[in-house]
Amino acid sequence: MSKKGKDKEQPLRIEPGTKVRLKDFDPDYHSNPYPDDPKLVNQLAKDLKRMAELQERLYAEHKRSLLIVLQAMDAGGKDGTIKHVMSGLNPQSCRVASFKKPAGLEAERDFLWRIHRVTPAQGEIVIFNRSHYEDVLVARVHGLAPKSVWKGRYKHINNFEEELVDSGTQILKFFLYISKEEQRDRFQQRLDDQQKHWKLSLADFAERGRWDYYMEAFEDALAHCSTPWAPWYVIPANRKWFRNYAVARTIVEKLEEMDPKFPPTTVDISKIVLT
Ligand code: ATP
Ligand code: MG
Repeated sequence: MSKKGKDKEQPLRIEPGTKVRLKDFDPDYHSNPYPDDPKLVNQLAKDLKRMAELQERLYAEHKRSLLIVLQAMDAGGKDGTIKHVMSGLNPQSCRVASFKKPAGLEAERDFLWRIHRVTPAQGEIVIFNRSHYEDVLVARVHGLAPKSVWKGRYKHINNFEEELVDSGTQILKFFLYISKEEQRDRFQQRLDDQQKHWKLSLADFAERGRWDYYMEAFEDALAHCSTPWAPWYVIPANRKWFRNYAVARTIVEKLEEMDPKFPPTTVDISKIVLT
């Protein structure tokens, strides 16, 4: 893993079994190994187009699916990523599932119950806006579960995700990493802009005070749960254009690797005569 400032290259993918120190990552990162800004914008447009083509094939093939997990601190850009990166997708086979504090039936069951109910069906792409990782993040930082319980969840998460992958669901997990200063600037912009006031919540400011505890919780989640079957990516997210570019690129690479195929026709085309 490259160190901040030491050399320019910053791999996004967390190698399974490695310790993670977020201080080694630069949330402002946007240079090598990627080309310059205008080219990236071009690449993003191409990737969005390609993503739509591959999505259609995935849907037509109707055998496998893709799950995209988004986690971030408040104002980290989950909504913006969904808006920009998913704008080219066909809503027919794409869905967003958002997870708030568990309530009602959800709160009465194991933490994966509400998650498993909304995983992608064959042919679908599903984006998780927050996810089962909240149960090792906010649950840990707020002491909603004792240590013995949240610690055990890393194993449950890995097993759960492995079972999904074995059943044909590929998984990509993105931690949109902004700096504490960037969060401050984004909160200030929201305070200054009346049209953004609806996005403000007192809880967000309180969570900001727990920043370091969240970073520790993220580091452990990334280290324990970046697996060969469901890797974590730390996306430098201070610059929105780079964030969108990096997320789209990674999704397209995954879909290319999956290489979904149109199924063979079920009819003998030569026998069809249009009248
Ligand atoms: P936005 O603010 O952009 O609308 P959001 O995802 O921040 O989106 P909120 O309603 O502000 O939505 O916050 C959801 C809250 O639910 C977060 O504080 C999150 O930590 C909390 N939450 C999600 N999952 C769990 C969980 N398993 N246990 C406890 N709290 C959770
Ligand atoms: Mg919020």
